[in-house]
Amino acid sequence: MLKWIDIIRFANYSNPAPDHKVVKSAAEWKQELTDEEFRITRLKGTERAHSSEMCSYFEPGKYACICCGSLLFDGGEKFESGTGWPSFMQPMAENAVAYHKDISFGMVRIEALCNTCDAHLGHVFPDGPAPSGLRYCMNAVSLQKVGSKTRKITFGGGCFWCTEAIFGQLKGVEKVESGYSGGNISNPTYREVCSGMTGHAEVIEITYDPDEISFEDLILIHLSTHNPTTSNRQGADVGTQYRSIIFYRNADEKQRAIDVLKEMQPSFGENIVTQIALFEQFYKADSDHQDYYANNPEAQYCEVVIHPKLQKFRILYKEKIKSEKQS
Ligand SMILES: [Zn+2]
Repeated sequence: MLKWIDIIRFANYSNPAPDHKVVKSAAEWKQELTDEEFRITRLKGTERAHSSEMCSYFEPGKYACICCGSLLFDGGEKFESGTGWPSFMQPMAENAVAYHKDISFGMVRIEALCNTCDAHLGHVFPDGPAPSGLRYCMNAVSLQKVGSKTRKITFGGGCFWCTEAIFGQLKGVEKVESGYSGGNISNPTYREVCSGMTGHAEVIEITYDPDEISFEDLILIHLSTHNPTTSNRQGADVGTQYRSIIFYRNADEKQRAIDVLKEMQPSFGENIVTQIALFEQFYKADSDHQDYYANNPEAQYCEVVIHPKLQKFRILYKEKIKSEKQS
């Protein structure tokens, strides 16, 4: 068990070697993290106290680094500190967390970092409960609950402004992000993707709870809210970036996607041309492309294209849509 004397020693001399190291550039982290996750973990930010439900969450389970997924804390070591930040008495392993002396803001504190990827987690203080006496005061944003059942699916069906607006309204959908997948260069810009030269499709990445909405349901809704029978085109939008595509993450998902397409084929007059491709990488689009419809309901494109799609979708999938309170 680590005690304050060990923490001081680590911070002053050297930290224990991690099992392995994850090193990425700031640009790469920016792609993978939300703005807030990036601000806190990579720029040493601090979240507002009491801003996360994780503070009052004491179910069994483990907590991993939001950046690299390394296990950091066990739920059994979590305690109610009353500070408004999730607090732990011990890390999962002696080498899970690294410690640095932090003299910012005119204080001397010990910063806690993920020892695998150097993500800023929070600080450690010597005022925790016995027997360790330690209080790991963490940003909830830096942590993810492991064993959480959420999954991701990525697909394209034309302009991502439309598809994002649709899926954000479904029960069981936790997050929808717009971006690019399936191309042949790293970190493409919107302009590059629009040129059609990079091979990327405009896609959305959906984080969902499979207990509430199934993989099949999401594909079904995807197929019925865009036109999967036109190659590289959605209405007036023409180009490979608008192709209809479903990315799978394993062989099981691939087969299930094929099955849904087969099942749906008879409802379409023409052949479904939707591609089924192995997911490789998702590049998040700039923030002005996220939540485009919600932020720009008056824009002409939204009025003409997105609004009627949403109307149709609301009628078709009434029972799957979140109530006002949930959304
Ligand atoms: Zn990490």
